[in-house]
Amino acid sequence: MAPPSFSYPGLLIVGDAAGFLMHAGVLIRGVDFAVASGVLAAETIKEAGRPDADALARYDDKLKASFVLRDLLAFKNADKVLSGQFAFDTLPKFVNSLLRNYFTIEDRPPTLASALKTTLGGGGVTLTRLLINMLNALAYL
Ligand SMILES: Cc1cc2nc3c(=O)[nH]c(=O)nc-3n(C[C@H](O)[C@H](O)[C@H](O)COP(=O)(O)OP(=O)(O)OC[C@H]3O[C@@H](n4cnc5c(N)ncnc54)[C@H](O)[C@@H]3O)c2cc1C
Repeated sequence: MAPPSFSYPGLLIVGDAAGFLMHAGVLIRGVDFAVASGVLAAETIKEAGRPDADALARYDDKLKASFVLRDLLAFKNADKVLSGQFAFDTLPKFVNSLLRNYFTIEDRPPTLASALKTTLGGGGVTLTRLLINMLNALAYL
């Protein structure tokens, strides 16, 4: 889907007001988008020299060519993967147990494969569930 226009006669929309905010699970990112879109808007106004729609439409092109729209569109579905019980509770607990099993040495050091085997199944994490979540993540990239 093409992004909407951010330029109108006498008006350029920047930062959060334009929706330039990325919430990808634990990360909230928007300051860099706000600063960059502000710079692009200022450049557009300086170059346009007049406030009509045609002159200001260049702002949309500048946004498309910048990291602002590129990053926002690239990660537009990230919240579907990086939110919810699995990403914030089940998976961190699983990784914690896996690393505990891997770094706990009893009679001889475990391999990653043996630690994985010991950990899988605990907390409801199976190999199938891990693979399904990985495939889901790939589908949203
Ligand atoms: C909890 C939280 C954590 C965040 N953490 C991060 C982070 O770690 N990294 C990151 O990059 N981004 C983060 N962000 C996002 C970031 O804060 C915003 O994306 C960024 O501040 C947007 O800048 P802005 O200039 O568009 O809007 P704002 O910073 O919201 O500035 C808008 C300004 O306009 C003023 N204003 C509103 N209405 C009027 C009016 N009628 N008249 C005059 N003034 C008005 C407001 O008071 C405000 O000062 C976080 C946001 C939140 C809520």
